[in-house]
Amino acid sequence: MLIIKDISNLKLYLKAFESKEYSIGYIPTMGALHPGHGELIKKSQKDNQKTIISIFVNEKQFNNSEDFKNYPRNKGKDYDFCDEHNVDIIFEPTSEEIYKDHQNKLENKYFKNILCDAYRPNHFDGVITVLDRLFSIVNSNKVYFGEKDYQQLKIVEKYIKENYPNLKLISVPTFRTEKNIAFSSRNKNLSKNQLHEFETFHNATLEFVFKLDKNINIEDANVLAKEFINKQNIEKFDYFEFRNISSLELEGKISDARLFYAIFRGQNRLIDNIDF
Ligand code: AMP
Repeated sequence: MLIIKDISNLKLYLKAFESKEYSIGYIPTMGALHPGHGELIKKSQKDNQKTIISIFVNEKQFNNSEDFKNYPRNKGKDYDFCDEHNVDIIFEPTSEEIYKDHQNKLENKYFKNILCDAYRPNHFDGVITVLDRLFSIVNSNKVYFGEKDYQQLKIVEKYIKENYPNLKLISVPTFRTEKNIAFSSRNKNLSKNQLHEFETFHNATLEFVFKLDKNINIEDANVLAKEFINKQNIEKFDYFEFRNISSLELEGKISDARLFYAIFRGQNRLIDNIDF
């Protein structure tokens, strides 16, 4: 396994892969790796001869400097994790390396003013900005994203279609703990008690969702969702609502929807979406 920090060095290895006509799978991450990332790695390895993972905590996508500072980082363990998963290359650039000749920020055009975009202004501009850089550097055949960050997945899908027509996006279902919550780097910042409360909340939410009649409209289900969330032991939440899985709008039946939530446990903002 190679750990590469600079773009020119990475390009040398990529050229060697290209000359052998290896197909390359790429997984962009912010590190603090966990079994959810492991699923993306496994999928890439099934599909490709070489798998590259990037670890880069992208300051441009944090709309809150405290959140950036507190984002979990886990360097040594991440290297071991990738080694155990037989990753071929870890690309771990510095911010200067990524942005030195590319100061301009791109603007996301898709799925705006809803869900995370409504509560984290400019977050997806930062996501698109870094992904555009990373896609053009790594130039892989396929790129892997998790359904855990569903709005991000939908935005990236549109962005790739318009700007990187030769890049194939593969989505991977959310991988969960035995207590049903999604594996997430942010779970590492939860105390034992916060984790337990979060698991209780998530499982109560599952019970609520699975009891609903699938033929009801999203609008009607959202009235029930509001009643449900207001009764939960939650300090704060940004959203807790059903949306159509294609348009992310509030239209149609819940059989074509997922429940999306962003809730807080202490300082920790936790997002998930429930497919049922
Ligand atoms: P992150 O490091 O949090 O930016 O995540 C990197 C990629 O891993 C994103 O495409 C995420 O959607 C995906 N991911 C994170 N957690 C999970 C999970 N529990 N299951 C599947 N994919 C995940």
